[in-house]
Amino acid sequence: MTLIVQKYGGTSVGSAERIAHVAEKVAAERKKGRNIVVVVSAMSGETNRLMALAHEVNPQPGVRELDTLLSTGEQVTIALLSMALENIDCPAKSYTGGQVCIQTDSQHTRARIQDINISKMQNDISAGRVVVVAGFQGVDANGNITTLGRGGSDTTAVALAYALKADECQIYTDVDGVYTTDPRVVPDARKLDQVTYEEMLEMASLGAKVLQIRSVEFASKYSVPLRVLSSFEEGEGTLITEEDKSVEQALISGIAFNRDEAKLTILGVPDRPGVAHYILGPIAKIGVEIDMIVQNIAEDTTTDFTFTVHRSDYKQAFEVLSMTAKELGAREVKGDDKIVKISLVGVGMRSHAGIASTMFETLAEEGINILMISTSEIKISVVVDEKYLELGVSALHSAFDLHSEK
Ligand code: ADP
Ligand code: ASP
Ligand code: MG
Repeated sequence: MTLIVQKYGGTSVGSAERIAHVAEKVAAERKKGRNIVVVVSAMSGETNRLMALAHEVNPQPGVRELDTLLSTGEQVTIALLSMALENIDCPAKSYTGGQVCIQTDSQHTRARIQDINISKMQNDISAGRVVVVAGFQGVDANGNITTLGRGGSDTTAVALAYALKADECQIYTDVDGVYTTDPRVVPDARKLDQVTYEEMLEMASLGAKVLQIRSVEFASKYSVPLRVLSSFEEGEGTLITEEDKSVEQALISGIAFNRDEAKLTILGVPDRPGVAHYILGPIAKIGVEIDMIVQNIAEDTTTDFTFTVHRSDYKQAFEVLSMTAKELGAREVKGDDKIVKISLVGVGMRSHAGIASTMFETLAEEGINILMISTSEIKISVVVDEKYLELGVSALHSAFDLHSEK
């Protein structure tokens, strides 16, 4: 018998009425003779509310307690959805992450799933019950509650689909699929019928928050068939799958952007072996992730070095870099936390030249200055002033003919 894992995000379970609607959808699938395991997020806004509450009682809450608190959001939803299912005579049973032994490492607030014990779920499935599992949470080897990072319910769903050998993992959300770019920014963005794991991974990593990065990594690694669909409308959604080498791939599949960016520059550092390590080592040591890095070619015996970090890490990184600058005798440290990154993504880029030049020309025509550039086989990213985000994304969307045909 077919087994489907369905995940419903925060907006989809945002009220009692919406939970009842999800129950109807699940029960309808069940009636078609399919076994269903449902993963749910907290009701929309709940995780943010809990986070704010934590910071009200302690500006720097401990991560163990934070996880204990944040995980309660999903616990509310599993119980409510199971009750709603029972109410329409669809037998169901809810489980927290701990109850189905979603074993993770101990990295609170960003734990990774290591193992899942499927025996309880299998018993329920055999008994004809819908299994409802709390997303976003697990337990470590010592029984501490952990969470998987924001948006982590997607990853719970994919991991369960893999562990249960499900036929498909369906991510139900408030858009009806993956679009060429965020449809909230470009209203005429086009829905994609299919996208490769590789492209989806780049899009998620570069800021398209429709799927958590780790869920795509996991799905790609274990070839879990993944589909993004709407909770509110019927449709086929977007299938995320292996690249079909027999068909020609679109040049550009999508445009991703990230508002969560800041850049730092250290000017006039001695140009000698080991200097990159000397500058970036202390930043990495305080746990700040570095994204793009650019080092200028030295004109004299000194050089300039620029890198980007998450905006929330900007102040901390600036302080550490200022200390390094003093030690190195560098001329100055400069920074800008009003920048964004815009990226073109497409596997078709591999075999086509000229995409970068069209991108740069389009931005130039709009008077948008490019501050940094980085490329890989299937993406080109530029950093620009945040005031150009909407304009830049829309102009590129038109330049590459990504809009819907409607
Ligand atoms: P959920 O609460 O269901 O997990 P999310 O808010 O995490 O939903 O993800 C869905 C949102 O992702 C959409 O509302 C949309 O604004 C945003 N999004 C960003 N980029 C894209 C894209 N390329 N295609 C579709 N949605 C996107
Ligand atoms: N509730 C969590 C969050 O808001 C997890 C999720 O929704 O996937 O990030
Ligand atoms: Mg999400």
